[in-house]
Amino acid sequence: MRRWFAVVWCVVALGTLEPASPTPAAEPLRALIVDGQNNHGNWPTTTKMMKAALEQTGLFSVDVVTHAPQGPDPAFRPEFREYSVVVSNFGHGAADWPEATRLAFEEYVAEGGGFVAIHAADNSFPSWPAYNEMIGLGGWGGRDEKSGPYVYLDETGKVIRDESVGPGGNHGRQWAFPVIVRDSGHPITKGMPPVWLHVQDELYDKLRGPARNMRILATARSDVTNRHEPMLMTIDHGKGRVFHTPMGHADESQECVGFITVLQRGAEWAATGEVTQPLPDDFPSADTTSHRPFQQR
Ligand code: ZN
Repeated sequence: MRRWFAVVWCVVALGTLEPASPTPAAEPLRALIVDGQNNHGNWPTTTKMMKAALEQTGLFSVDVVTHAPQGPDPAFRPEFREYSVVVSNFGHGAADWPEATRLAFEEYVAEGGGFVAIHAADNSFPSWPAYNEMIGLGGWGGRDEKSGPYVYLDETGKVIRDESVGPGGNHGRQWAFPVIVRDSGHPITKGMPPVWLHVQDELYDKLRGPARNMRILATARSDVTNRHEPMLMTIDHGKGRVFHTPMGHADESQECVGFITVLQRGAEWAATGEVTQPLPDDFPSADTTSHRPFQQR
């Protein structure tokens, strides 16, 4: 009798160790690209490029919500809360979002939503205080000393917060410039070579803003200012995570494997706080750029 009981107990106990069914595959992270008004006429293409880059990771399902092409758009009300990360492809001169949309976006990020600002997204919404806090640094649109300090690194690598008077936002010629990793301990930059050559792009300089809770992961030396200008940044905003890169001007700039990688990793980090993607084999080196030509579909 005792032995029979023991056998039954054993079978029941072992049974509890067996999973009822195989573990289902993880749900993809939901990403939303917002666009519609940008001084860069190629924005419909770069939205497609960014959507493809995110989908190629196998981590994201990507939706796009497009604002009316001119003026304010009362119907622009994306359901931010349904997404793990929002990517902005807005640009200079974009009309302000409706107040309810701005408040919903502020609440979304403050409560833990992810946000990624690409290139001219740091030109938009100069008079929206919470947005400027999220992006850390911005340019154009009347930004000046009232927006916050110029932030850059000096030759010793020290972060300078320069309160001097002047406009925010500038760039020189487009060129293939070296990106210097300043913080290799962050999940976005982990494993990157200390210097990698970015495909031809605008190198934004003289960005200025509140720059609170901002971590500079990489810089590039501007041939206009001779300063090391921030190129990859993270900003903690409430419970939310923001990744900001001023790179990505032209289609060609966004074909850079370095750009694609920081977009993919930055979006995953903003969504989850982690990066599971290894550095790709075709990542650029210190003296060689690396393109992945985009095929329009
Ligand atoms: Zn540009």
